[in-house]
Amino acid sequence: MDPGHGGIDNGTKGSGGELEKDIVLAFSQALREKLESGGKYRVAMTRVDDSFIQLSERVRFARTRGAALFISVHADALPRKEGLAEGATVYTLSETASDAEAARLAEAENKADVIAGVDLTAEPNDVANILVDLAQRETKTFSMQFARTVVDELKSAARMHKHPLKSAGFKVLTAPDVPSVLIELGYMSTKDDLKQLNSPVWRARTAQAVVKAVEAFFTPRVAGAGGGRR
Ligand SMILES: [Zn+2]
Repeated sequence: MDPGHGGIDNGTKGSGGELEKDIVLAFSQALREKLESGGKYRVAMTRVDDSFIQLSERVRFARTRGAALFISVHADALPRKEGLAEGATVYTLSETASDAEAARLAEAENKADVIAGVDLTAEPNDVANILVDLAQRETKTFSMQFARTVVDELKSAARMHKHPLKSAGFKVLTAPDVPSVLIELGYMSTKDDLKQLNSPVWRARTAQAVVKAVEAFFTPRVAGAGGGRR
C-alpha cells in the first residue's frame, strides 16, 4: 500500500489547511488494519510516517517485495477556475490519458519528485518506454480488473466521480509485474468531499469497501478465464 506524498511534499491542500499527505496516510492505515485483521493478507506500506519517498522508490518497493497488488492512495483538488468536481476516482496506468482531467492529475502527481528536488536524470521519464513491454499486458489486465472491482465496491460506500474509472501516465503505477491502481478518494477542494475525507466514519466505511474489492480480486473464480490471483 502506498500513501501518497509525505515529508516535504504535502500533496494538495484543503481549505482548512488539511494536507493530502496526512489524509491519505490516515486512510491507508485504516485500510491496512482492516486487511490484516482478517489474517489473510500481509500489507507492506511505502511509508508509515511523514517521510518523503521518491515515486520510483515506491515502485521498487512493491517489486522487490513481490507484491501481488499495489494500491496508491491520494486525494485530488481542482483549481477554483475549473469548477466543481466531487467523488472518488480509480486510476490505472495508460500511455494516453482517458481525458484532460486525468492528464492534469497525472502531471500533478508526477511532480512529487520535483517538489523534493530529486535528481531525475537517471530515471526513465517516458511512461511509453515501459509500456512497450509485452510482459506488462497481463499486469494491465489484472490492474483493470481490480480497478473495476474497486469502483463497484466503492459505489456503495462513497460518493463517486461522474466518470469513476480513468487512466493516465502515473509514474507510481509503472511496475511491469505488479497490478497497480491509484485511488483518488475525493476532492480536497470540494467542501463536502473534504468533510468526508476528514471523517473517521467515512474512512472506515470506504476502507471496508476496498477490502471487499481486494477479497474479490484474490478469490479465484470457479468458472471462466482470468479471475483473481493466488
Ligand atoms: Zn496526490
